[in-house]
Amino acid sequence: MHTFDDIIAVIRTAHNAPEGPVPLHAPRFCGNEGDYVQQTIASTFVSSVGAFVDRFEAMLREATEARHVIATVNGTAALHMALLLAGVRHGDIVLTQAVSFVATCNAIAYCGAAPAFVDIDADTLGLSPDALRDFLHTRCERTAEGWRERASGRRIGACVPMHTFGHPCRIAALAEECARAGIPLVEDAAEALGSYGDGGRHAGTFGLFGTLSFNGNKIITCGGGGAILTDDPQLGPLAKHMTTTAKLPHRWLYRHDMTGYNYRLPNINAALGCAQLENLDAFVADKRDLAATYARAFAGLGVPFVVEPAKSRSNYWLNAILMDDATRRDAFLAASNDAGVMTRPVWEPLCDLPMYADCAHGPLTVTRDIAGRLVNIPSSVRGTAGAA
Ligand SMILES: *Cc1c(COP(=O)(O)O)cnc(C)c1O
Repeated sequence: MHTFDDIIAVIRTAHNAPEGPVPLHAPRFCGNEGDYVQQTIASTFVSSVGAFVDRFEAMLREATEARHVIATVNGTAALHMALLLAGVRHGDIVLTQAVSFVATCNAIAYCGAAPAFVDIDADTLGLSPDALRDFLHTRCERTAEGWRERASGRRIGACVPMHTFGHPCRIAALAEECARAGIPLVEDAAEALGSYGDGGRHAGTFGLFGTLSFNGNKIITCGGGGAILTDDPQLGPLAKHMTTTAKLPHRWLYRHDMTGYNYRLPNINAALGCAQLENLDAFVADKRDLAATYARAFAGLGVPFVVEPAKSRSNYWLNAILMDDATRRDAFLAASNDAGVMTRPVWEPLCDLPMYADCAHGPLTVTRDIAGRLVNIPSSVRGTAGAA
């Protein structure tokens, strides 16, 4: 039987950190970051105008093969805008998972809609297409204007699965289910840049919209930033227009044709993002190597380690192990953090937060099991990866 010290030793060895603090996830700047940021300062174009935003969007189009990429100020704003443009309206219900960062539900709430929680799959930790079908067919009915939840009469405005820790959910099956039901699919791919689902397609490109985040703890960072992905020829340009105050192009006139949002990514943040993106492949390779090291060592100890789902390729943004129960989980969290190895439990299920506690939900068996046992362990890109 393994001890907590055995697990801590595996983490320290994998990070070549025999002593001192091991962070959960630190950003890594080893390329052109300083140079590009300095260029924006030298040019004075640090804010809403500048070449790095266009360059960042072009690099993301190439990386994801999405037809339209719109850089935004953060991932939450990207999700808010995607939901609005997907047609989510005041009073709607949006089907999502309770295992996620709070931003997923907040973006739904910003639209005046309410989340309804559907269970996740144990192998992907993402929204289960079976649970989605079950929720629709037991709690909802199809009407002339689409699906409605029977109890509240509220319209189902969208479905938002999340690719948890970078592991792709069963996204092709979800896309099929949503297409059949006529429900817009918006993928929260905040954690999944560099991850691929069924058929080798990039996460975030299966739905009407996908969204990314470049917060400081993600696989690459702009300091803060996000992006909207879509193939839709009308909604792509509209998303750009609406996130940039809906200003009509003119050399000196300030004229706006709708209530837009100031959700644009500043040029100085895009500059950081461009330099980071140049190292994306190296970062993903290092993370996959770290995960393979963890998988081998934890198999030897008999500790369950979360691996990428079948038919997918994960960026392994954040690694996770499963403890036997919540008591042992809590004891391990204390022991590891006391030892300077930063670990944390999975987010408190969103259905338990005060503002979402009254929302509708289906059975949440896997959600409850994961919420009580999962521990995230240090997952930073290591010192040798991605040198310029
Ligand atoms: C990081 C993250 C977001 C977006 O976060 P921002 O900090 O607004 O960029 C959204 N959803 C999930 C699941 C995330 O992990």
